[in-house]
Amino acid sequence: MEEKSNKEETKSLNFIEEIIEEDLKSNVYGGKVHTRFPPEPNGYLHIGHAKSICLNFGIAKKYNGQTNLRFDDTNPVKEDVEYVDSIMEDVRWLGFDWEDRLFYASDYFEQLNEYAVILIKKGKAYVCEMRSEEMSATRGTPTRPGQESPYRERSVEENLDLFTRMRNGEFPDGSKVLRAKIDMASPNMQLRDPVIYRILHATHHRTGDKWCIYPMYDFAHGQSDSMERITHSICTLEFEVHRPLYDWLIREIGIYAPRQIEFARLNLSYTMMSKRKLLELVQEGRVNGWDDPRMPTICGLRRRGYTPEAIRNFADTIGVAKRDNVIDFSLLEFCIREDLNKRSDRIMAVLNPVKVILDNYPPDLEEEVEAVNNPEDESRGKRTISFSRELYIEREDFMEDPPKKFFRLSPGSEVRLRAAYIIRCDHVVKDPKTGEITEIHCTYDPLTKSGMPESNRKVKGTLHWVSVKHAITAEIRLYDRLFSKENPDETAEGKDYKDFLNPDSLKTVTGFLEPSLKTAKPGDKFQFERIGYFTVDKDSTNDHLVFNRTVTLKDSWAKHEKNQ
Ligand code: ATP
Ligand code: MG
Repeated sequence: MEEKSNKEETKSLNFIEEIIEEDLKSNVYGGKVHTRFPPEPNGYLHIGHAKSICLNFGIAKKYNGQTNLRFDDTNPVKEDVEYVDSIMEDVRWLGFDWEDRLFYASDYFEQLNEYAVILIKKGKAYVCEMRSEEMSATRGTPTRPGQESPYRERSVEENLDLFTRMRNGEFPDGSKVLRAKIDMASPNMQLRDPVIYRILHATHHRTGDKWCIYPMYDFAHGQSDSMERITHSICTLEFEVHRPLYDWLIREIGIYAPRQIEFARLNLSYTMMSKRKLLELVQEGRVNGWDDPRMPTICGLRRRGYTPEAIRNFADTIGVAKRDNVIDFSLLEFCIREDLNKRSDRIMAVLNPVKVILDNYPPDLEEEVEAVNNPEDESRGKRTISFSRELYIEREDFMEDPPKKFFRLSPGSEVRLRAAYIIRCDHVVKDPKTGEITEIHCTYDPLTKSGMPESNRKVKGTLHWVSVKHAITAEIRLYDRLFSKENPDETAEGKDYKDFLNPDSLKTVTGFLEPSLKTAKPGDKFQFERIGYFTVDKDSTNDHLVFNRTVTLKDSWAKHEKNQ
């Protein structure tokens, strides 16, 4: 509740909205808002991208504008259609629609090439033949100017000729580049004659072998925004230092200028967002693919059981910041709990069973008891559950020698069985070899059935249960956080992020479930009473049900953090 009222109070404009409203007032872009989401198709989208998607599409929607989806596909070596397809699927799943505005930077290669020629003709770009190591060595440092390239003063004709021959495939990879001629002494390193085109004899996933020169990201990005008439080009903070370069290119080429606004990228504790490292986890088999439910990828979260609503609400709740920060993973978990609480039916499942035998219950009797499906949503109705003499309860719900505040079952004590009767424990039977409890013998009170007058009798604990002879089994994958360290990227000596993988991030158990779950389909979501929220996995079949734990009912990491 508190969270909600806070949110409403802070619904003032964020700094990006403030800028946009100013622009709308002064009519800079003809009163229009046109944003874009520009992923590079070199990996699957993660929760950080979701933040950017929600921001770009959300802002355009708020101001009746439009959002483009554009693939910044300038690096054929690392890109793939597999990624293009997954990105489109994820953006759609998050609930956003680019309508007919799907673009690719590779569609602009001809135009970008022409822009490069414009710069060459103005004497603002030159073909350089320095090796890349030489180029880095002569770039200088932020406090020491770089050295000018010996090729810097080539004539326009020579540059035009060489650039054409680069395009025609006359030179090998790495032998020449086109550089913008800006200022080797600029305090901004980005302006020290950056490379804008390189030779790469590689097959592009869309343009095939048509090109053997490719624009650098920095040359493609701003010009693509310009061609698409983007009004507000929203990007993450690391591009702030690139902005003077983008401005310079647009000015020198002489084309329409969008406005770039930077915000702090999303960082989440207990995980990381580097596409390179996520790819490593996949390739080394440390997780089971990009959609492993422990991955911070959108497809991983989806498979885990996250909903688009929860992710959008999360993005909204964290807002936009101008400075880098780390958001606690438990906030994301809070958002999914809040959403699943409203939408998922309750069922009873026992994951670590011990048998309860009701000695005074007729051996052949079976009863149907009635349970509410979702106390948060009356329209979800009720269901009946079979009750019988032998039940499973959770082993943790019984203690032979309990401490004072143990309100569950123990010898001589009473508990209520959810939607059924009050029972009292009389004695236990143990395995003579191991000492493990194998049966808990109880007496049930027939007058305490739900709905009967005696059912209101005060007992401290209520337990969930399933009837042994009616229960169905399922594979239950108990997922937890992928890393056990708050910042796995923070490398201590000799260690890297892989040393901090949580060894307990996946435990598999066999659960005993209400028979109503027999027909559950992949993607269906439930609250297992008193345990957590669970989603049917895509591996699930009619003969072999598989559930993923989406999130526990309570934040079990809060305690862990305090103890750390
Ligand atoms: P790369 O290092 O491969 O460029 P990237 O994470 O920047 O990785 P892009 O595909 O370029 O990947 O990202 C697409 C968009 O998503 C960019 O506009 C980028 O700013 C934004 N984005 C990426 N990561 C985050 C993040 N953690 N938080 C917010 N926005 C992000
Ligand atoms: Mg990027």
